[in-house]
Amino acid sequence: MLLSGGIIDGKFNSGNQRLDVINPATGGLAGTIDAADSAIVEAAIASAKAAFPAWAAMPDVTRIAALQACADILDGNADELAKLLTTEQGKPLGGMGSRFELGGAAAWTRHTASLNLPVEFVQDDADAHIAVHRKPLGVVAAIAPWNWPIMIAIWQIMPAIRAGNTVVLKPSPYTPLSTLRMVELFQQALPPGVLNVVAGSDEIGPALTAHPDVAKICFTGSCATGRRVMQSAAPTLKRLTLELGGNDAGIVLPDCNPKAIAEGLFWGAFIKNGQTCAALKRLFVHDSIYDSVCEELASFAATIKTGPGMDDDSLLGPIQNRMQFDKVSRLVAEAKATGARILTGGEPMGGNGYFYPATIVADAETGMALVDEEQFGPALPVIRYSNVDDAIEQANAVDVGLGGSIWSADIPRARDLAMQLECGTAWVNKHGAIRPDTPFGGVKASGFGVEFGHHGLGEFVSLHVIHD
Ligand code: NAD
Repeated sequence: MLLSGGIIDGKFNSGNQRLDVINPATGGLAGTIDAADSAIVEAAIASAKAAFPAWAAMPDVTRIAALQACADILDGNADELAKLLTTEQGKPLGGMGSRFELGGAAAWTRHTASLNLPVEFVQDDADAHIAVHRKPLGVVAAIAPWNWPIMIAIWQIMPAIRAGNTVVLKPSPYTPLSTLRMVELFQQALPPGVLNVVAGSDEIGPALTAHPDVAKICFTGSCATGRRVMQSAAPTLKRLTLELGGNDAGIVLPDCNPKAIAEGLFWGAFIKNGQTCAALKRLFVHDSIYDSVCEELASFAATIKTGPGMDDDSLLGPIQNRMQFDKVSRLVAEAKATGARILTGGEPMGGNGYFYPATIVADAETGMALVDEEQFGPALPVIRYSNVDDAIEQANAVDVGLGGSIWSADIPRARDLAMQLECGTAWVNKHGAIRPDTPFGGVKASGFGVEFGHHGLGEFVSLHVIHD
């Protein structure tokens, strides 16, 4: 498969450099693109800029209808897009894999279509008229990662175009294929230039983030790249939404039933093989139930099949890329060498794909790289604690703050403790649940700005006050 690396003004636009996309289940080719270069990025921004005035002037009902048509396109082409996604990303077709991602993308699009951008009246009487209008910003650059390529692109582009902005989307070089196809399909629902896509290497990122005609950047990716994006955007003072890395902690209180919570803990940590920003990445368990929680988690993990995403019975696929596969292998080996116990998994599965089994690591401690760094893979360190204040302190002792969770039968107490976690969302008795009507974002080095619902939509407009 050879795809054009750019769709600009509704037309294909190919660069001169080939970029191979690897199928992580086989190590072979998933496809090749004629990658976009900085000249193509320039053309995409020019197209979005030219399309902006007319799109911004469209009545709300037109933009709502366009988003609804995009949702229908996602539903109508879910099978093809899901297969493409599995081929390049690795995630299973079933379970919480590609079909789930396509369903979520359509649901988020529909919800975003339903949101309003009302004019707010602070005062409207004989003494004063003060109206607050919401106006689109202009060209939005949307930069997406490889873990949830379709869903995250949707989170970025749908509120942007719903609010009247135009977009240049850049998918990750690891997973451009399904995004390119999705944007091609969306051209049926959107005027030319409203949604452009440029797929190429990381090097084209700065051409977007530094460009004077880009009004806002919506970036989802690692903290390191987030810092570069912010630096690059500073000279032109762009607005930013930064959804960056996390190292979410879950704290299990002594009143929990280990068997009852094992499945929730497992999927909180291993959703998408742990390659999820707000997955549970450090699990703190009270000493009194530590051994039984570890045992229940390990037995649940042993029932989960890791295999090729195209196989119907695979619940987890391969790690998405070689770099991440090597990182997880190293972190687990280092933890083992420094005293941690591997309860299940712990070694690559062999073969040409990047398969690594769900791995539970007991006797892990703060100070081990597996605990302190974002592993972003299928290895969960379980840390023993005896004093909950100490567990909260350790949970907060990282520079990131995306999600967190408290597990307990005592809900009011769990809510109080959840308030002490330094993060954007703290869950009780679950981890990672997100909804299109509930704001989601990070604190500290996990970034700033939120996505979803009317709070998220608000990030794509400026407020314009008319006061007489
Ligand atoms: P990454 O930072 O390597 O890449 C993300 C995107 O940025 C890619 O499209 C990449 O090509 C682009 N990019 C790279 N260098 C750039 C530059 N200098 N300027 C502009 N763009 C550039 O991240 P990744 O490895 O694709 O994703 C994994 C990370 O993303 C993890 O840390 C994860 O926690 C985080 N993430 C966060 C969220 C969230 O909502 N907070 C969601 C998903 C993933």
